[in-house]
Amino acid sequence: MRLYTGLKIFHYQNKLDSLPQDQPAILPPIHIRIKPTNACNHNCSYCAYRADNLQLGQHMNIRDRIPEAKMAEIVEDCVALGVKAVTFSGGGEPLCYPHIVKTANALADGGVGIATLTNGALLQGAAADVFAHRGVWVRLSMDGWDGPSYARYRNVPETEFARVMDNIEAFQRRGGSCFLGVSFIVGQENADHVFEMGRRLKDVGVASLKYSPCVVSNDGRENNAYHLPIFDKVKEQTARAAAELADAGFEIFDSYHRLDEKFTKSYSWCPYLQILPVIAADQRVYSCQDKAYNLDCGLLGSIRDRRFADFWRDGKDKFFAINPARDCNHHCVANGKNRLVHEYLDADPRHLPFV
Ligand code: SF4
Repeated sequence: MRLYTGLKIFHYQNKLDSLPQDQPAILPPIHIRIKPTNACNHNCSYCAYRADNLQLGQHMNIRDRIPEAKMAEIVEDCVALGVKAVTFSGGGEPLCYPHIVKTANALADGGVGIATLTNGALLQGAAADVFAHRGVWVRLSMDGWDGPSYARYRNVPETEFARVMDNIEAFQRRGGSCFLGVSFIVGQENADHVFEMGRRLKDVGVASLKYSPCVVSNDGRENNAYHLPIFDKVKEQTARAAAELADAGFEIFDSYHRLDEKFTKSYSWCPYLQILPVIAADQRVYSCQDKAYNLDCGLLGSIRDRRFADFWRDGKDKFFAINPARDCNHHCVANGKNRLVHEYLDADPRHLPFV
């Protein structure tokens, strides 16, 4: 069955129908990204949160992390509201958060599906156990193809690559039903190693490999210009990986694409910010992962002095302050899904029976 599809939201019709501003209901998010900490044990050269030329993370304070008591309150609210899933992500490295095991267990106890993005270096011990046995999926981000290249990308010792690969193998040996994937971030330096890494990751037991383009600019054309010299070479390798490596136990998801189609927006309100918002380490709620830590045009509000549940249910206007056609002309992972939701909501009711 498919793991990646932009149509998942269409299994939640009540939520879809509640989205427009003139609908009185405020239903909870389906899925929340929680950024528990901005601390990280790696220092990636291309990290979108730390790059000065990207709007993402503009106002991020590296020392922020969600206090333990606040996190417990957020967990309680997620369970009480009926949030279906939480993904831990960066800012920083989620597994650097000292209360990650307790938080993940509490969410799972409350029936919330849990997943994490991680660099994988700390995917060991109790943290690995809780995700292996209670998580729905874990996805590592990778870029280097051996010790030296991994060290160059991440400013870590050359032994770190082997440690991460060992952690992947050990994670699979823990048993459990958690789906382990890797997102391989493709740029000019690793463009010759795309297929090779597919084979290596399959050999160590990864179940799914997503190829994604490195985002180097807010401007779609600049991103495409960066990827142009390697584009055909990378696509040949991703196609070869799909043909030669993919099987029932190993999925290839080729998300290496030209970037500009995801930049320009034609709609004036964002459906997905009510579906998949971000709670960040600064105890603020942001519209999405592409605008986290952007106080100028990504902020929905603060939950430092109020509960998330109260904030969420207190009026709808905050969901409509961002105008994507004006404010979001940068990379947006939800753009395709937003367009589908708008098309669904724009269907003329008199014509719906004429399926
Ligand atoms: S349109 Fe995209 S970038 Fe803008 S708020 Fe929505 S999800 Fe974020």
